Amino acid sequence: MRATVLYGAGDVRVENVPDARLIEPTDALVAVSRACICGSDLWPYKLMKPGEPPRRMGHEAIGVVEAVGSGVRTLKVGDVVVMPFAYSDGTCAFCHEGLHTSCVHGGFFGTVELPGAQAEALRIPLADGTLVVLPVGADDALMASLLTLSDVMGTGHHAARAAKVGRGKAVAVIGDGAVGLCAVIAARRLGAEQIIMMGHHPDRIALAQEFGATDVVKERGEGAIERVRAVTGGLGVHSVLECVGTEEPMRTAIGIARAGGAIGRVGVPHYEAIPGSEPAFYNNLTIGGGPAPVRAYIQELLPDVLEGKIEPGRVFDRVIGLDEVPDGYRAMNEREAIKVMVKP
Ligand SMILES: [Zn+2]
Repeated sequence: MRATVLYGAGDVRVENVPDARLIEPTDALVAVSRACICGSDLWPYKLMKPGEPPRRMGHEAIGVVEAVGSGVRTLKVGDVVVMPFAYSDGTCAFCHEGLHTSCVHGGFFGTVELPGAQAEALRIPLADGTLVVLPVGADDALMASLLTLSDVMGTGHHAARAAKVGRGKAVAVIGDGAVGLCAVIAARRLGAEQIIMMGHHPDRIALAQEFGATDVVKERGEGAIERVRAVTGGLGVHSVLECVGTEEPMRTAIGIARAGGAIGRVGVPHYEAIPGSEPAFYNNLTIGGGPAPVRAYIQELLPDVLEGKIEPGRVFDRVIGLDEVPDGYRAMNEREAIKVMVKP
């Protein structure tokens, strides 16, 4: 079968690899009907060091179950399923608490340990706990929005939850990638009154406004902090949804949060220590977030997608075949595309 392999910085290839197959009795084998490239895939694409082992990339997909192991109880061949970016047993203490990304038997797709979803097929460990059956056909018109439940919509929602977004709150979203745009949808869905999009790509800002952003701040650094204070009566925002993961946006987040506010960070951090410890302390800020337990959020968000109340699939602005995946990485890395869908 064909699959995507990252060999080094800027060196991603689509190759013939051994067919995915069942290994454990709790596995399912899924034929991928839709996958995508994630902003977080761009980190190793940019920064992979020489000598690191190759990685089979991709952690977002919808597919059709082709085979199940003898221990699988809730899935059958032919089911249309969505996979979260992490696998989980659904039965441990953390899964029961809704924190599936900390599952004691879990792990992540698209790593050195487990082949990823930018491929014709993939093996799903702990299939009963991991996969969610979708009540649609494999070519449903809602496929793009359903695919975002693998990661970006759940991750934007997690940022909003961690930042304690609620009715009437003033919210800022840092980052205008697919997760930031989904974070705008999530903030609006949870009742935020003011949603400030912080970004500077005109097409992404326009989409953020359609998703519910009420204000736009294009400045960065100190200028951004001044602008957000200016549009919030000098107080700052209750909730900051940090969807980038580098130090400057985190510093900005602490600078724009109002006293007693909360920051939800979902961008994979590329800094050693959280900056702004002193202002965060004196302003009584809560800093939360981490890898989103999207497995828990699929149940909450799926009805809104099926009813058309939210349309996160609009973040996809390019559709490619599997062999074009390397150009998809390039296009996302050069900010030519917001998010690329792959149809193997
Ligand atoms: Zn678990």
